[in-house]
Amino acid sequence: MKKQDFEERYSRQVLFRGIGAEGQLRLAGGRVAIVGCGATGSALASLLGRAGVGTLRIIDRDYVEPSNLQRQSLFEEKDAAESVPKAIAAARKIAAFNADIVVDERVEDLVPGNINPLLEGMDVILDGTDNFETRYLVNDYAVRNSVPWIYSAAVGSYGVTLNVLPGKTACLACIFPDTPRGMVETCETSGILNTAVNVVASVAATEAVKLLVGGAAAERLRKTLWSFDVWMNEHAEIAATNPRPGCRACGQRDFVHLAGEGRPHITMCGRNSVQIHERARPIDFAEMQQRLAAHGTVRHNEFVLKFWREPYEMTLFPDGRAIIKGTTDTGVARSLYARFVGS
Ligand SMILES: [Zn+2]
Repeated sequence: MKKQDFEERYSRQVLFRGIGAEGQLRLAGGRVAIVGCGATGSALASLLGRAGVGTLRIIDRDYVEPSNLQRQSLFEEKDAAESVPKAIAAARKIAAFNADIVVDERVEDLVPGNINPLLEGMDVILDGTDNFETRYLVNDYAVRNSVPWIYSAAVGSYGVTLNVLPGKTACLACIFPDTPRGMVETCETSGILNTAVNVVASVAATEAVKLLVGGAAAERLRKTLWSFDVWMNEHAEIAATNPRPGCRACGQRDFVHLAGEGRPHITMCGRNSVQIHERARPIDFAEMQQRLAAHGTVRHNEFVLKFWREPYEMTLFPDGRAIIKGTTDTGVARSLYARFVGS
C-alpha cells in the first residue's frame, strides 16, 4: 500500500494519542495468532484486521454451521451451506475488508504435536477457543517460550479475560490450577449472547494493540482477571500482578500439557459430536466419494467431504481428521470411522 493510502486508511487510529503514526507502523509489523475462530475469534480477527495488524494467523479445526451465524461475525449463510472451514471463510472475509494484511489460515486442531510450528514467530497469542484443555496447552507454550497471550472466554451473558505476560504477571495456571467450575458450562448448555462475546473480544483486542504498540502503551496493560455479566450488570476484577509461587507452569516449569501425556485421540467437541484425529491419513476426496456413495449421501468440495448415514453425519478433512455428529459415544464414532474411512 502507498504511504499516502496507508496514512489515510488508518488516520482515525493515528489521531488517537495512545497509538500515533509510530504505533500504527508497529501494528503493521505485528504478528498475532488467533487460536480458534468461532465467536470470540471472529470478533478478535475482525477488530485487529481492521486496525491494521500486519499478520493474522488463524487456526481453527471446525467448519461453519447455521447455528454459528448468530454470533460468529466473519461468516455468511453461504459458508454454512457449503460447510466451509472457519479458517478459510475467515481469511476470505478479512481479505474483503483489508486486502493489505496477511492472513495465514490453518485448518488444524491445535495439539501438542503441532503447536510449535503453528505458534512460532508470533508476537502475541489470542484465545478464541472454547475449552480449557487447549487453553492450558497454549499457556504452557506461552510460558515456556515467553510469548504473551490473552485468555478470553464467554458463555451465556458472562465474559472473562486475562493478559498473561510470562515472567511478569500471573499465568492461567496461577489463577486456575485446575479447570474452573462454572466455566465447564458451554455454549451448548447455557447459550450465549453475541454482545457478551463482543465485549470480551473488544477488551482483549485492545490489550493486544497495547502489546504490539509497546512503549508507553504497554505500560497500560491491565494486570487483572477482568470479568463482567452484560445481563446482570455485574463486573469484577481479581489481581493478577504477580505469579503464584509454586505454580505448576510458570513456577515449576512443568509443562504437562505440552508433553501431551495421556491426551486422547478422540475428543468431544460439543454439539453432540466427536472428533477423531488419531493419525495423519491423507484423503483423496474423489476416491472417497465413490467408495461411500453406496452407503449413504456424500458430497465434497475442495475443503471437506460430508457423509450422511442416518443418524450420523461425518465431516472429513483432507488430512484424515473427522468430526462425527449425532453421537457423544467415542466408541460409536471410532467404529463408524473404521468402517467407512479405514482403521
Ligand atoms: Zn503460573
